[in-house]
Amino acid sequence: KEESKLALITRFIRQFPDFPSKGIVFRDICPIMKHPAALTAVMDLFEKHVRETQPLVDLIVGIDARGFLFGPLLAQRLGVGFVMVRKKGKLPGPTVSVAYTLEYGTAEAEIQEDSVSPGQKVVLIDDLLATGGTLFAACELMKKRGAEILGCLVVVELNDLSGREKLKPHAVFSLIQY
Ligand code: AMP
Repeated sequence: KEESKLALITRFIRQFPDFPSKGIVFRDICPIMKHPAALTAVMDLFEKHVRETQPLVDLIVGIDARGFLFGPLLAQRLGVGFVMVRKKGKLPGPTVSVAYTLEYGTAEAEIQEDSVSPGQKVVLIDDLLATGGTLFAACELMKKRGAEILGCLVVVELNDLSGREKLKPHAVFSLIQY
C-alpha cells in the first residue's frame, strides 16, 4: 500500500534539465499539487511518519516557498500549528534571520521572533532536499529560538548532494530519492 502511494507520487514529479541554471536538474512537484490523489498520498505518508516517530511535535515549520504547500496540510492533520520560514524582508514585526548558501545562489531566511518559543518541539518541511543549506539555515533559526528539532521532512531527496549528512544529527525523512 505504501509502495503504491510512492509509485503514484513518483509519477507526478517532473524533471527539467538545466533549470534554473545549467547543470541543475530541477525536480518539479507542481503536478502533485494538481492531482488530489497524489497530494493525499504525500500527506498520508508524512502524517504516518510523524505520528509514529515524532508524536510529541508542537509545530510544523515550512520553508519558503514550496514548504508552504505541504506544511499547513500536515499541521492540520496533526492538530498542531504551522510556522513560516520566509526569505528576508517579508515578515512584519521582530524577526530572527540567518544567511545561507543554496545549490544555486545565496539567501537569507527569517522567522517572526514570537513564532517559536523555547522548548517547543518542531518538525521542518520542504519540497526538496539538495545540499541541505536551506533546511540547515531553518534549523539554525529554530536553535536561535531554543526550539527542539525532532526532524525534517521532504518529498524529494537528491542523494548525491549529501544534504542528509549536512543536517546531522537531525533526522531526514524523504519520500522519493534520486
Ligand atoms: P538546498 O538548500 O541545496 O538543500 O536546496 C533546497 C531548496 O532549493 C529547496 O527549497 C528546493 O525547493 C530548492 N531546490 C534546490 N535544488 C532543487 C532542484 N534540483 N529541483 C527543485 N528544487 C530545488
